[in-house]
Amino acid sequence: MENIKELKTLLAIPKDIVLTSHRNPDGDAIGSTLGLRHYLEQLGHTVRVAVPSEFPGFLGWMPGSDDIMVYDTSKEEVKEQLVKADLIFCLDFNSLERIDRMGEIISPLRCKKILIDHHLFPEPFADYVLSDTSASSTSELVHDFICLLDDEKLIDRQVAECLYTGILTDTGSFKYSTSPKVFRMVGDLLELGVDDTKIQDHVFNSLDEKHLRLIGHVLNNRMEVLPEFRTAIMCLTKLDYDMFDIQRGDTEGLVNYLLQMRDVVMAVFIHEQPTITKLSLRSKGKFSVQEIARKHFKGGGHKNASGGYSYIGLRPTVKKFKSILPDYKDALLNNEI
Ligand code: 5GP
Ligand code: MN
Repeated sequence: MENIKELKTLLAIPKDIVLTSHRNPDGDAIGSTLGLRHYLEQLGHTVRVAVPSEFPGFLGWMPGSDDIMVYDTSKEEVKEQLVKADLIFCLDFNSLERIDRMGEIISPLRCKKILIDHHLFPEPFADYVLSDTSASSTSELVHDFICLLDDEKLIDRQVAECLYTGILTDTGSFKYSTSPKVFRMVGDLLELGVDDTKIQDHVFNSLDEKHLRLIGHVLNNRMEVLPEFRTAIMCLTKLDYDMFDIQRGDTEGLVNYLLQMRDVVMAVFIHEQPTITKLSLRSKGKFSVQEIARKHFKGGGHKNASGGYSYIGLRPTVKKFKSILPDYKDALLNNEI
């Protein structure tokens, strides 16, 4: 990160700071913002966290999650905090479009903006940028950021629990995007008193009965395998949402089941949200889903995990997705897993 000294000077005086992260916040969005918050509070800053939409219940145990502001339900409060902020941090996203209306509020503000993120192709809206697409998670980069500011000693158990959670969820329990550095960092976090078993229980073993029944339903009734493209598709309609009484966050991780099939290279989960049809794309090996998300579904993300959306409804979106598969057939069939 360039200008780190300048930023250190800025942070030397107590400020009003807002930390933002993306819509449908996941473990890394919440872990990185709360981890950074607990660090910045130790420096004497007044810090608020704001996200566009509700975060999943399995993150509700995290220290500081109680007063996260959600734009969908507290529009005026979020706007007020953003407008009066001296500094705004943007974590785990790199285009203002990813934070809905909050992006329109932030864009014209004159205050300094700091981007910390690990997605491909950052947009140039921030004054200070820590972007590393090889990082496992934004939480890993928040750890780097604190160290760059020479404040490693301020990483206490609270900060460590938050950062651990972000790394845990974004690496799929240390299955992908890992590196020797990540494992060393996690070792350091455990030494600070992080109870990894307890956190894994909170994150992975806290499903409701309806959730497990939903998994059974989608795998049995809503899954289509296209062996000629080494691709599998999974869908959920608005009716499914009603029938199983599920909310947005409840479908987190469903798409990964499809990759458990030996010959599947690309997996997509397509589901109806109130105003858009959302796609979650995943892949194995060298095959990149990022281009498909960006070129055809207004989205982006990483090589092996991307997302996007359309306004054309569920069935037409599935049809559109299938219609682009021939363009990628060679790459899918030649992919080395
Ligand atoms: P998920 O499928 O879990 O929603 O998202 C997977 C990855 O794709 C995430 O890292 C996320 O940042 C990215 N992603 C998901 N939806 C969108 C989107 O609408 N636009 C962009 N640019 N990236 C997305
Ligand atoms: Mn992330």
